[in-house]
Amino acid sequence: MILFGLLVIIVFLFSSCAEENSVSLRMFPYPYISALAICSDIDQTGSFDEFFAIQQFLNSDDETIYGQGLGLEIGNSYWFYNDGYDAMITLEDSLLPKDKGISLFFGTSDSLNDYAPKLMKLIRVGYIDCFHSYGHFGREGFNRQLAGQAVAIMQNESLAVDVYINHGPSGSNFQNIGDASWCYGDNIESPYYHTDLTIPTGIKFFWRGQLTHCIGQDGNFSLLNNLKQIYEYFQDIGYTELDFEHDNELVHLFQLDDSTKLFEFSRFINPWGKYSDAIENNFTRQLGQSQIDQLISNNGFMIFYTHFGRNSGYPYLTEPTIKALQYIKEKNSNNKLMVTTTSKLLNYYVHHKYLFWRSWDSSDTTFIQIDSISNEVEGSFIPTAEQLEGITFYVPESQKILLYAGETLIPLIHNKKDETGRTSVSVAWQALSFPSGILETDINNNTDN
Ligand SMILES: [Zn+2]
Repeated sequence: MILFGLLVIIVFLFSSCAEENSVSLRMFPYPYISALAICSDIDQTGSFDEFFAIQQFLNSDDETIYGQGLGLEIGNSYWFYNDGYDAMITLEDSLLPKDKGISLFFGTSDSLNDYAPKLMKLIRVGYIDCFHSYGHFGREGFNRQLAGQAVAIMQNESLAVDVYINHGPSGSNFQNIGDASWCYGDNIESPYYHTDLTIPTGIKFFWRGQLTHCIGQDGNFSLLNNLKQIYEYFQDIGYTELDFEHDNELVHLFQLDDSTKLFEFSRFINPWGKYSDAIENNFTRQLGQSQIDQLISNNGFMIFYTHFGRNSGYPYLTEPTIKALQYIKEKNSNNKLMVTTTSKLLNYYVHHKYLFWRSWDSSDTTFIQIDSISNEVEGSFIPTAEQLEGITFYVPESQKILLYAGETLIPLIHNKKDETGRTSVSVAWQALSFPSGILETDINNNTDN
């Protein structure tokens, strides 16, 4: 018995020693232990000034109408067209389908809205990171010629993003992609087919419609999340137009009707099915302190579904939402919660998941060699430092560390010990920088053209 006890102690010491001397991939960029993207669809955002007021609070350190800006990487989405908006402002016919909301082009015309240059700036700097389909089509619906016009401006003005998000309602938004009967965008025989134009602009990720109540994807075991997965599985059986995998992973491979492969992601809407409308007024009930605390303790990833523009009018964000966002900022500042845009979170997630690497020691140096990132959407390639941003390896304490991607030496940041007591090295995160000065000047002087 004593001998057995000694053996257990020796095995334990040996394995913890081996762990300290080995190299392993950390789940999240140091120092975080969970990750969140707030993913807002642009629907019903009434003006650029409204959009800017909200983004300035989320993204900058400026003094804003809501108080000190949060300086967080919280992105947003954009439309090229808004047929409903066109209808409302030109015909004022309340019977027409309406979706008040800003878009690059005026209505479905080929003229840009006067605020379009400001939206373009935010797209280029990464704070608008999602393409919320070609827009809202209320009357005549989407057509392929509109996609061609949008892709041309995307290429000429460097507006490519890598996330595409379907937009409802289904009645006339035929541009949606996926296998549901009202999604024609990837159906090669349909007049609404556009994915042959759209995907080559750089789309890697898309949202088909999957919503989840599980808090934290790819996190620790959670009985509650498992029960919710079973519930969601039966929900899908009851509604056959859209069905999804229920393994609580953030991303799945999806093959479009035209055989293109993309990464499909799910979005969290609320913890229990109550407050099912993804609107500003429900924000704190859907993503309040309790949900953030659970996400952190679950060590999961999460992309939260909302519409900041679906609010009750000026000042757009209500006090409970501001408090909930400030709590998220606090957890980010305390190094518990990484907060970044949907695009950056998804890129980190798949590059981490499909990273092929090895390591070895040579006297006082540990070499980490990245051979490739390989997956069915991006193909196989040797990543740059930018494509490795945030990647963190636990490393032996006393060794010199060299990280190579192919034959390129990648600069490293040496981190302090984290909650596991282990030291690590990271590839630098490429932080976004909010151009509030430029945009404010534009708003005040109205000099944009
Ligand atoms: Zn929408």
